[in-house]
Amino acid sequence: MLPKALRSLVSELSKLPGVGERTALRYTLHLLRSKNKQVEDLIRSLEEVNAAIGTCPSCFFWTEEARCPICEDNGRVSTKLCVVRDAPDVLALEKFKKHPWKYHVLQGLLSPLSGRGPKQIRLDELMKRLSTEGYQECILAFDATLEGDATALYIRQQMSELQMNVKISRTALGLPAGSSVEYLDPSTLEHALNHRFELS
Ligand SMILES: [Zn+2]
Repeated sequence: MLPKALRSLVSELSKLPGVGERTALRYTLHLLRSKNKQVEDLIRSLEEVNAAIGTCPSCFFWTEEARCPICEDNGRVSTKLCVVRDAPDVLALEKFKKHPWKYHVLQGLLSPLSGRGPKQIRLDELMKRLSTEGYQECILAFDATLEGDATALYIRQQMSELQMNVKISRTALGLPAGSSVEYLDPSTLEHALNHRFELS
């Protein structure tokens, strides 16, 4: 019964995480009843996000400029590099407290079955940064999962093969098994970050 254009919008909105068909229909009907201005503002915001947000060529976090604000922040300690699974994890780590370190944002964790090897998740770029940018500590802030363990192991092996004189530590001590950094409460996250252990 729904006109085609409305069906199409319901279909697109229901692809969003956490939005089922009922919610998508509710949003669609809300937009239909809204004033034109609200719809135009939404269209403009979507276009801006699509056109203006890129990835920082250094750390791969989101940026609207040539480099992201974290890489441009001279107040950060340039001897510690924190490696995270993806960009939302940087938001989680920075949400309650600005940490002094720099970041390297992977594109997921190693998963050969899903076609994610070292090249796909930017581990080559990580090794290059660790060899050339003078870091003294590499902090792995990964989820405590099999993929997290495999990624940590690969990084440690590569660093050892390349004979890097960089301390490598992992935050998993306080992270419950199977948990995701993105959804941890601030005190658990802070505990995990403060109680990182060295990988040898
Ligand atoms: Zn950056």
